Amino acid sequence: MIDKHSGESHAGLIESKRRRYTGTVVNIYRAEEALMDPAGGPYTCICQEHGTICNFQTLWMARHHAVVASWCEPCSLEVWCQTDEEERND
Ligand SMILES: [Zn+2]
Repeated sequence: MIDKHSGESHAGLIESKRRRYTGTVVNIYRAEEALMDPAGGPYTCICQEHGTICNFQTLWMARHHAVVASWCEPCSLEVWCQTDEEERND
């Protein structure tokens, strides 16, 4: 998806995670290899759906937050709404 917009390679890409609830994809990069600012942490998550970027100190944190994506406001709203619906159905 990145290729389509910028023509850039997937430099620094560690892995992609498709999120269970919304189906959106979050890519995890090594910030420096992907030429992103590592000030907030050496690992960068990017929501491919909304373009939201968030840095993390460890790969474990990046992976965990790629699945939850609470740092992406539109994603967290979608998950919150769907979780709420599931609870109501019980
Ligand atoms: Zn998002």
